[in-house]
Amino acid sequence: MVSRRRFPGLTPIALLLVSFVNVFLVTYVKNVIQELRKERQGYLEVHSRSFNQENAVIERLDHLETYIRNISISMNKPSNEDKKLLQMSKKEMHQKENKLETEKKAVPRILFPDSYLFKRWGTDLTEDQQTKAQELFTKYGYNVYLSDQLPLDRPIRDTRYASCKKKSYPKDLPTLSVILIFMNEAVSIILRAITSIINRTPSHLLKEIILVDDHSSNEDLLGLLDEKIRNYNAKYPGLLKIVRHQKREGLTQARISGWKASSADVVAILDAHIEVNVAWAEPILSRIKEDRTVIISPVFDNIRFDDFDIFEYSVAADGFDWAMWCLYEALPEEWYKLKDDTAPVRSPSIMGILAAHREFLGEIGVLDGGMHIYGGENVELGLRAWQCGGKVEVLPCSRIAHLERAHKPYLLDLSIAMRRNALRVAEVWMDDYKNMVYFAWNLPIENHGIDYGDVTSRKELRKKLNCKSFDWYIKNVYPNLVPMNTIVGYGTIKNTLKEDICIDQGPVPGNTPIMYGCHGYSPQHVFYHSTGEIYVGGLKARRNAVDRCLSDPGTGDLPFLDQCDEAINKGLNMYWDFEQGSSIINRKTKRCLEILRDETASYYTLVMKACTGQKWTIQHTVKDWGRKDALR
Ligand code: UDP
Ligand code: MN
Repeated sequence: MVSRRRFPGLTPIALLLVSFVNVFLVTYVKNVIQELRKERQGYLEVHSRSFNQENAVIERLDHLETYIRNISISMNKPSNEDKKLLQMSKKEMHQKENKLETEKKAVPRILFPDSYLFKRWGTDLTEDQQTKAQELFTKYGYNVYLSDQLPLDRPIRDTRYASCKKKSYPKDLPTLSVILIFMNEAVSIILRAITSIINRTPSHLLKEIILVDDHSSNEDLLGLLDEKIRNYNAKYPGLLKIVRHQKREGLTQARISGWKASSADVVAILDAHIEVNVAWAEPILSRIKEDRTVIISPVFDNIRFDDFDIFEYSVAADGFDWAMWCLYEALPEEWYKLKDDTAPVRSPSIMGILAAHREFLGEIGVLDGGMHIYGGENVELGLRAWQCGGKVEVLPCSRIAHLERAHKPYLLDLSIAMRRNALRVAEVWMDDYKNMVYFAWNLPIENHGIDYGDVTSRKELRKKLNCKSFDWYIKNVYPNLVPMNTIVGYGTIKNTLKEDICIDQGPVPGNTPIMYGCHGYSPQHVFYHSTGEIYVGGLKARRNAVDRCLSDPGTGDLPFLDQCDEAINKGLNMYWDFEQGSSIINRKTKRCLEILRDETASYYTLVMKACTGQKWTIQHTVKDWGRKDALR
């Protein structure tokens, strides 16, 4: 018996069970939390990578510091301080010790040890200051306590390549409207953005700065901000304008309102929590002067939400996955071949912030005003630009520091808005490939119950502009997205013997799929292909991020998960026969995927064994696959 072999005696059983459950729970809960907290993925993928890198660097520095301290102690060479101590009388020593002791006691207690704000900042704050800082952090998602103290015109490191610094640009360039959109951002943050723009943009090119208030509720964004605008305009007549929404309309509408109010040749539509870097505008303006059809993204650096240090990001192209979370892509080979690191980088999409020829952006339909709150609008613009005769580029010499918040105060779960907006993009721009978006979000293609709003005017726009197909886009612009037309069943898979547990990828890292209580997040998303593969644990369908395929090792009683490309290379038994409501049979070994109830405990294991006729159902099917064969 399977379970006997795995759990040989009673005490070991208990021990094993406890440790298994522990390890599993930790890994599992982490997975689920990750899934739940999935934020705008591009930012997640690269930014979180950078975040980890940063942490690693900090840790390394911490170690280094301790290391150096230890060395200096072990060298036994008395410092001046030590020498003084040596000369002290015993009494004096006691006095000194007491003084140190009271000083130690005076060090404030850390009030919020779990807050991200205090992980590497704020150790010297009094309790009152900590409370204040934490309050502001919760409200804004970044360190407003610190921002309020930093100079508005603080210098930031010039993160451009050396070659960018050598470049010169003609004086005669198109004029620029800069648009800053905001909803309940801190005043000091907005003022620092404005200051950086005024100080780092040639004044003869900067026509106006347009603030768009997406119906903020914070008082200081009314009176106080108006007063600041008047002050700026006293110094720079007519430079600042403000547009206020009468109700909250979301970031896409805010960007559109800014565009409508603008009048210069070029618009740069930015978040309000940014600081532009040296000579950020010249590369944009000269590129648009050369080609009015290019939509531009600058390169972002990260203003860290806690200590406001600038963390440099590498130059990359902007892409997205099938769920439409944005992510960074490696630089294309053709770019390297140019041997000019100031050259524009051809990019499938943008991250959100953009610059474009004002009229051209209007001609191709600005942004999709039907988008709600957050997400999708950037990919929509990317697809529309490419499919309708424009292009998208990242300019390595144009750098903007962008503050990445620890949390979004306006939305706890971005995925609801993201999913809805992604469906708009899929329906308007992706033709037959749109199924991939439904797969990625684990939604049925019909009757999904999600109201993505009216898309007729966007479809008409596509027709009017005579835009190319998504097939053209994927082949010519974004081959890293891999469409899959063999998927016939997807979603969670349940055994008809017990329908509250689902096939699950199991602990990661690890290669053993398991049965687990159904929660329906991506560790339980399974994809069955008409060609026989079974993907488990979400759908990547990207060239450089491989999905995991189920196989039967042929011996032993456990099924196995491996990267699909590896499984092919190793010739694993990875092809299965399955129809809706049938057994899942390995084509090669003829063994079945089944569940087995452990006799000592009330849980089920997922095993490979001689078929006993167990049946499985998958959550969604494509077209008529499997339906005619309903449960037998
Ligand atoms: N914003 C807005 N209305 C909203 C949500 C956001 O105007 O309903 C603004 C926000 O203040 C910010 C910009 O839109 O300046 C982009 O939002 P955020 O920075 O949260 O998104 P991300 O940086 O992840 O793209
Ligand atoms: Mn932002």
